[in-house]
Amino acid sequence: PKKNLADFLIQSAADYPAHAALHFMGKEMKYADLLEGAYRFAHAIRGLGVAKGDRVAIMLPNCPQLVIAYYGTLFAGGVVVMTNPLYMPRELEHQLSDSGARVVVTLDLLHGKLKEVMPKTPVRDVIVTSVKDYLPFPKNLLYPLKAKKDGLNLEVVYEPGIHSFVRLMHDASGEPCHTDVDAENDLALLQYTGGTTGVSKGVMLTHYNVIVNTMQISLWAYKCKPGKERYLAALPFFHVFGLTVLMNKAVLQGGCLILVPKFEAGQILQVVHKLKPTIFPGAPTMYIALLNHRNLSQYDLSSIKMCISGAAPLPYEVQERFEKLSGGRLIEGYGLTEASPVTMANNVWEKRKSGSIGIPLPDTVAKIVHPDTGEELPVGETGELAVRGPQVMKGYWNAPEETAKTLRDGWLRTGDMARMDEDGYFYIMDRMKDIIIAGGFNIYPREIEEVLFEHPDIQEAAVLGVPDPYRGETVKAYIVFKEGKQATEKALEQWCRQRLAAYKVPHLYEFRDSLPKTLAGKVLRRKLLEEDSAQRE
Ligand code: ATP
Repeated sequence: PKKNLADFLIQSAADYPAHAALHFMGKEMKYADLLEGAYRFAHAIRGLGVAKGDRVAIMLPNCPQLVIAYYGTLFAGGVVVMTNPLYMPRELEHQLSDSGARVVVTLDLLHGKLKEVMPKTPVRDVIVTSVKDYLPFPKNLLYPLKAKKDGLNLEVVYEPGIHSFVRLMHDASGEPCHTDVDAENDLALLQYTGGTTGVSKGVMLTHYNVIVNTMQISLWAYKCKPGKERYLAALPFFHVFGLTVLMNKAVLQGGCLILVPKFEAGQILQVVHKLKPTIFPGAPTMYIALLNHRNLSQYDLSSIKMCISGAAPLPYEVQERFEKLSGGRLIEGYGLTEASPVTMANNVWEKRKSGSIGIPLPDTVAKIVHPDTGEELPVGETGELAVRGPQVMKGYWNAPEETAKTLRDGWLRTGDMARMDEDGYFYIMDRMKDIIIAGGFNIYPREIEEVLFEHPDIQEAAVLGVPDPYRGETVKAYIVFKEGKQATEKALEQWCRQRLAAYKVPHLYEFRDSLPKTLAGKVLRRKLLEEDSAQRE
């Protein structure tokens, strides 16, 4: 139980010292160098006074500095707080104050935003890295003295409390730096929820939670070869899906992470074609964007052998088309921040059921309960999904009441409505919070979204309940058409009428060029609702 989550890195650096751990902008960093970088970072933040249990916020896109800072913080005994670099000052202030982070690692480009909120937070030290630091990578990160001739100015003088990443790395020792932890109780991550439905909450994940979940996923994908796989890291690491399914898993198994700082379909296609990743975890919207790219046929995607889709429902058509195109397997799984995150998945190479999130991972149990009474419901009935397993969080940070509502009798109440079939496969209906109640009927937006998605001209659709004086709520559909395609409201209503009971058919439509999304690829329903209510005023 003394195992630190960062021990994965020590092991892989011992087993595969000369293998590439990271690929970034045409250059590679070896496992031995990544380990040394993490040790340097650990010494550096200890030098700034970071002690065991102190929170260190990492506010970076996917880049080598993020991976170094992540493992370095864990080695120093700190708790990592992954922070979305696109956060606006208000969100940033909430996360930094709530977590009590004393150090933030960020990009110079984002520093202005941070400076604005700093006085209102407990942050004392900011470590700034620059886009320029990337360019002579990886040399400059480990041996910044040479960086000077590569055009880097190490002598940049920042204000007190503001430090240069390369300078700190240079001045720190590269000798081992390791903190023993009580893996079952000490936190590795204070991971904030996606905030899709409201204010994001800090989820306390222990070293053990995350170590176990990474191993559970690795057992599931048992054909992945240690030391051989190449992971396309397009999901952001600040979201728990990318963090565990990509970064932790790749480092546990000595794989190479191909770092992509921002998802852009054309660029991803080029990266796959050229760098031949074998594993590509993503959100459904990512696979959809690739399938709809106009130059798709010019690229070879045949290196991909496994994709795991999570975060939102995966449409059947997308699964089928993507598998045909790549020749690999695209399976659906399910998880949430509160469970490190993965709790269920379809078998990767054996039996699976499309439209289902699969069966519980090893050591995980799941059941369907009545949302009010908590009573277990029979096979086939829809209720709240509850899960239990070693990956389930310790609780919410500073929120004992929320914790008590969510962790009940040893079960994590997920807030998702689901059902189980006779083979033990689970199906997500929708989030409890997203269910529309119109004229006394319960309506699951997902069912309507699927019908809209089948329309040949529609690229994306999101369905929401908006206030209605007669029905309480009414169904509104947000539609993005495929390039050069269009349909009228009347035609769409007709399409839905033929496929859905009348009370489910959307009466309001809004056509958009795109839908607001989180960087993990999830539609930001909260934002759509806010915009709708602003339109009404
Ligand atoms: P917040 O809780 O702050 O609103 P969030 O729910 O987006 O944010 P996450 O932990 O990122 O926080 O997301 C977990 C949720 O994602 C699940 O509860 C579920 O609703 C949804 N989800 C995950 N995988 C799937 C899937 N395969 N199909 C449908 N929904 C999924």
